[in-house]
Amino acid sequence: MLDITTTKQAIKSRLTRKKPQMDKLADYEVLIIGAGIAGIGMACRLQQLQHKNLFGHKGAKKQKQAKTQRFAILEKRADLGGTWDLFTYPGIRSDSDALTFGYNFRPWLDYRMLAAGGDIKRYIADTAREFGITEHIRYEHEVQKISWSSTDQLWTATIKNHASGEVLVKTAKFVVGATGYYDYEQGYRPHFDGEDDFRGRIVHPQHWDNLDYNDKKVVIIGSGATAMTLLPALVDEDSEQCARHVTMLQRTPTYVASVPGDDHAIDWLSGKFSPLSKEQVYTALRARNVLRQQGLYKLATHAPKLMKAVLKGSVTKELKGSGVDPKDCSRALYARLQSLGSTRLRYTRQ
Ligand SMILES: Cc1cc2nc3c(=O)[nH]c(=O)nc-3n(C[C@H](O)[C@H](O)[C@H](O)COP(=O)(O)OP(=O)(O)OC[C@H]3O[C@@H](n4cnc5c(N)ncnc54)[C@H](O)[C@@H]3O)c2cc1C
Repeated sequence: MLDITTTKQAIKSRLTRKKPQMDKLADYEVLIIGAGIAGIGMACRLQQLQHKNLFGHKGAKKQKQAKTQRFAILEKRADLGGTWDLFTYPGIRSDSDALTFGYNFRPWLDYRMLAAGGDIKRYIADTAREFGITEHIRYEHEVQKISWSSTDQLWTATIKNHASGEVLVKTAKFVVGATGYYDYEQGYRPHFDGEDDFRGRIVHPQHWDNLDYNDKKVVIIGSGATAMTLLPALVDEDSEQCARHVTMLQRTPTYVASVPGDDHAIDWLSGKFSPLSKEQVYTALRARNVLRQQGLYKLATHAPKLMKAVLKGSVTKELKGSGVDPKDCSRALYARLQSLGSTRLRYTRQ
């Protein structure tokens, strides 16, 4: 049954509620937190909207909003790139192909698909420059608090400028959190029993800091994407440093697919006699890769047994002629895993 008193009260409160002051002047229309690939991408989108006259000051409000800047990116580090600025361990690279990792509005034109960390950072920086974003980035500005006012219809951000020590307060109509998903100061670091007796150094790849590993014995704990890119780089005899021996400790085995590191299709398909531009080919190849990834994801979730067979089949193919029997290999790995709770893969420098 309808409660008439409650309804009356609701209507009264609606009518008497303080109207939001939509026209209170903000410092920014949009505040973006973080200058990683996401924050820069967001800012590029705002620039594109402005060029189409869909974002920014227009019409009658123009005069009043002239003091409101369109957007700013607040970045607590001293440079842009986020992940690709922070991680500097040997071999750092993407594990997705650069066509799908790159922006759809700015082609990745390098033939290297598993892009090196430095190249990704350069791509982000070049994009920022090309879209006029660089001058909107405030470095060493950490957002420490944000709060929303329904009355003013504005966000208020408390920002610490680490260069000057100053604390600023800025308002914005919109806040975009492009802060990534992990702790920049302290990566996940479990305590290992007996680590106090260990005489070597324990390093998280997040804080690599020009580590000297030349001719040293190294243990990598974990077998995810970081470990997999780190290991071959540590035993690369052509690089300045090369470890003497590397052991990888693995708790949970992962399926690994081998994909080509290079793709020259952009150059071929947009060559001298092609009617297609590099940008058009990029768009088409990007769509192909997105569809392929979505297809593989569907296959893995709907037919996991088939997917396992496909992955194992490709490993068998890769190992052909290497003298390693993939069946013995996986049986040995699983046996070890069950008995020890970990699996060891050894790579020894000759
Ligand atoms: C080694 C490695 C390899 C990876 N490879 C891939 C891959 O191949 N494919 C893939 O899809 N993903 C990969 N990732 C995940 C990767 O982090 C994301 O794909 C992507 O780079 C995240 O971008 P982002 O801009 O969202 O965040 P980040 O790159 O994390 O950037 C966030 C930014 O926000 C800033 N920030 C955070 N908090 C504040 C604050 N309070 N105030 C001001 N600034 C702040 C940070 O300083 C940072 O610059 C990888 C990650 C790692 C570590």
